[in-house]
Amino acid sequence: MAAEHSGLSPAAAEELAARYGSPLYVYELARVRAAYADLTDALPSPCRLYYSLKANPHPDLVAELRRCGARAEVTSRGELASALEAGCRAGELLYSGPGKTPGELAEAMHRGVRSYSAESFGDLEGIGAAASTLGVTAGCVLRINAAGAPGSAGLRMTGSASQFGFDLDTLLAAPDRLKVPGTRTVGLHFFPLTNARDEESLRAELVQSIRTAAQLRSSLGIELQLVDLGGGFAAPYAVPGERPRYTGLRKGVSEALDEWLPGWREGAPVVAFESGRHLVGDSGQLLCTVTDVKDSRGTLYAVLDTGINHLGGLSGLGRLLPMAARPVRPAEGTEADAVRATLAGPLCTPADVLGRGVEMPGLAAGELIAFPNVGAYGLTASLLGFLGHPAPAEVVMDGGEVVTATRLALRREAAGAPATTPLPSRS
Ligand SMILES: *Cc1c(COP(=O)(O)O)cnc(C)c1O
Repeated sequence: MAAEHSGLSPAAAEELAARYGSPLYVYELARVRAAYADLTDALPSPCRLYYSLKANPHPDLVAELRRCGARAEVTSRGELASALEAGCRAGELLYSGPGKTPGELAEAMHRGVRSYSAESFGDLEGIGAAASTLGVTAGCVLRINAAGAPGSAGLRMTGSASQFGFDLDTLLAAPDRLKVPGTRTVGLHFFPLTNARDEESLRAELVQSIRTAAQLRSSLGIELQLVDLGGGFAAPYAVPGERPRYTGLRKGVSEALDEWLPGWREGAPVVAFESGRHLVGDSGQLLCTVTDVKDSRGTLYAVLDTGINHLGGLSGLGRLLPMAARPVRPAEGTEADAVRATLAGPLCTPADVLGRGVEMPGLAAGELIAFPNVGAYGLTASLLGFLGHPAPAEVVMDGGEVVTATRLALRREAAGAPATTPLPSRS
């Protein structure tokens, strides 16, 4: 059960909802620390672990992971600002993602970011131009779009036509185009899949990337200071469940590194991994309230004070349902009292459904319920601006104490020149 599954008692959850309003996100830092410890135990040693802010840019979570030893992987001005606010050193960040603009690159360079993942020749040239303007050199890892291990599953990020990374053929056909002033190629970056189905597909994928890295080093004649193998470490999303434990990964991946990249144990190259969801997914829950219960043509609807504006906005992509909430304080009675309900949000669109056929013991209006395992891809992966409901509070807890309670705000501000500045006339 969601609230029991976490360190938060039903009484504490109710008190938080009374204090900060419903709906609200609650994150527990102890769970972030536990996830970091478990994942580093499962990975080859030594290695570097990047936290991908995409999963949750909340500065308190980023700061906790930084204290644990993680570095930050950022892909935008907003994530860069969060990482710096969390105390991350600019020189230790990895800036990645397709379509980096001259403006954001100039800002990142100015703030001191010197490590970039280059997604294409054009991207590399953009990074080089921004670095040259400041008279600095950017260390670049080349993101590789390679065919992955056969038969592995998860959400595949590369391996076919993609906006992500260099195709191997493109790279091998024109290695001279890597000589871009202002840049130095220092390694390779792989991120072939996310949320891997099982340990074996994950291991196979990582081993495949290691092999590709060794082959590219010799065919391109590049130096490898850093090999970022990405990740794909899974986590349950908005349903009860535990993070998977990867008990055989360390051994299997270490052996492949010994074979293909000897020297890695001495940091030549440094081997890195990345994770978002696995590190923060189970730290967060969304508490919310049933505002109405109604029957429509035989289907029971529980209407909530939260919806795809606060959770699961990515479900528009059709891959995140089902989600399941449970009462914070389950009603007395037998399982026979459990009814199945469609959990609908307050937005005026039929797309605002968070779960169907969800078992809800003792469902009643006014009840506080919790979606578990939504510390990753929760609030900031949602349709926050749609229909104008305020954002839920985000409460960060540690050892039963509230560390911070804040609320994101979307507000309109003046953009650029005053609106009365004349535009150029036609022709
Ligand atoms: C999305 C992404 C991640 C994080 O993915 P998770 O599944 O949350 O671990 C890491 N690296 C890159 C390049 C990504 O695009």
